[in-house]
Amino acid sequence: MYENFINWKILIGIIILIINIIIILIAAFVLRRKFIEADKLRKNAEAVSDTKSDFLAMISREIRTPMNSIVGFSELALDNEVSLKNRDYLNKIKINAQWLLQIINDILDISMVESGRMNIGNIPFDMHELLSNCRTLIMPKAAEKGLFLYFYAEPGLGKTPLGDPVRLRQVLVNLLSNAVKFTNNGMVKLHAVLKEMSDNSITMTFEIKDSGIGMTNEQINNILQPIIQTEKGKKRKSGGTGLGLAITKKIIELMGGSLSIESTLGIGSKLSFELVFDTINSDNEELFEKKLVFNDLDKPVFKGEILLCEDNIMNQQVIFDHLTRVGFKAVIADNGKIGYEMVKSRLDKNEKQFDLVFMDIHMPEMDGLEAASKITELNTGVPIVAMTANIMYNDREIYKKSGMFDCVGKPFTNQELWRCLMKYFIPQNVSNTGMDNNQGIDSFSSKSDWEIQKELQVLFIENNSHIYDEITGALETADIILAKRLTHSLKTNAAYIGKIILQKSAAAVENRLVDGKNQVTEEQLKTLKTELDMVLNEFSSNMQ
Ligand code: ADP
Repeated sequence: MYENFINWKILIGIIILIINIIIILIAAFVLRRKFIEADKLRKNAEAVSDTKSDFLAMISREIRTPMNSIVGFSELALDNEVSLKNRDYLNKIKINAQWLLQIINDILDISMVESGRMNIGNIPFDMHELLSNCRTLIMPKAAEKGLFLYFYAEPGLGKTPLGDPVRLRQVLVNLLSNAVKFTNNGMVKLHAVLKEMSDNSITMTFEIKDSGIGMTNEQINNILQPIIQTEKGKKRKSGGTGLGLAITKKIIELMGGSLSIESTLGIGSKLSFELVFDTINSDNEELFEKKLVFNDLDKPVFKGEILLCEDNIMNQQVIFDHLTRVGFKAVIADNGKIGYEMVKSRLDKNEKQFDLVFMDIHMPEMDGLEAASKITELNTGVPIVAMTANIMYNDREIYKKSGMFDCVGKPFTNQELWRCLMKYFIPQNVSNTGMDNNQGIDSFSSKSDWEIQKELQVLFIENNSHIYDEITGALETADIILAKRLTHSLKTNAAYIGKIILQKSAAAVENRLVDGKNQVTEEQLKTLKTELDMVLNEFSSNMQ
């Protein structure tokens, strides 16, 4: 009886065990099915996402091709003579096409980031060249807004970083463009400084600072959220895609850094990030190159005396200021003849000769070519550099024949002028090691870009308020030479001040004044007047 009871108990135990095993097996089976299904769903979702990304990438690329043509052809059309109305239409097409292109680029980038296919390169690159390139890109917009643009870049230190220069440039240009876009007066600064250095790596901090409108905490939070959520429900006011910073942030992360934003409404913003780069040693030659580029970026200080042969009063002012702000003494000659006589007089009196001559080409009395030939004949050894608005390959050959082996295009940037000066002078603020041992010397004691811009605007108003009447007056009295000289001067002044449309309108009139004949159309004069009035009004309102 007792044994029977035990047997029953064992039997029931075994049955319960079997039932449990069956339940576990069923559960495992169900779970496995669920897992397989989930895996299948995940794979499907990934495939769908990949397909979506592929599709976006494909569409973006397909749209880019015709877009490039639209931008390209509208630029070409703008180069021709077109009525003011059509110029306005074409400009709008161009601006909108560029904007659309930017949206497409951003979509392409987002699809790459999302699909995890944005690869960050790892090649040796020249950090200074990259920064210089960013500066050149951003400069016109900053100058147009009268902003002071300040770049500081750490010297090369004999190390070449490995990384992705294209993506780093994209990041910096985006941050700088925003800084310029959202700053109405004051400054935009970029600091790229070395934080740490080991045998085979460097850590650099990049900081972009502006004195602009600033951001609210809500805006900052939006920017710092994942890409997809950044723009939900936000209304766009700036005319950007609103994706730039989200992509920038992601690229910085892919490069191993993280974007931080500090901002105060009405005061300005500081966006910064830190990156570690593996390095290889630069050889000596490369280091020397870097010294030059470094000094290009950080204002050099020179010693010497330069003769400037230039007839245009605005050009005289701008070049004189450019030269004196980097430490030169500059002497102005109003034309080639005076310049030649100054050099000769020094030679005759056995006085110290000029260290360099900058020579404009088109001047009254004696032009630059003749003056350069005559100075060269004096055998003083003083180098002569041509300064002219249009440098074609042929022009260089002509200048060379007159003894001018070098040439600077007008209008030039600081960088271009400094690069040229470096060939003839050793900057005083650079020691033999190539390190700047006198940081910031004279940096703020002389005029800023912004001050120069303002001065130029004043000069422009002074020199050109009545120029249209003078041109039409000369045309009425059939004084074609005077009319041509006046339009040429207006063209050069417009170029200096960055007013390209006015420059082109003046060039169009100038080109129709050939061989003593007046072939200027009413339409061309009308365009010139409208463009000139617009520029004069803009500058006058800046003075108030
Ligand atoms: P957008 O294409 O609109 O410039 P971004 O993603 O680059 O898009 O920037 C997003 C928003 O962040 C901008 O519309 C602007 O409101 C704000 N922002 C970015 N940078 C600055 C800055 N330096 N100063 C003030 N606001 C800024």
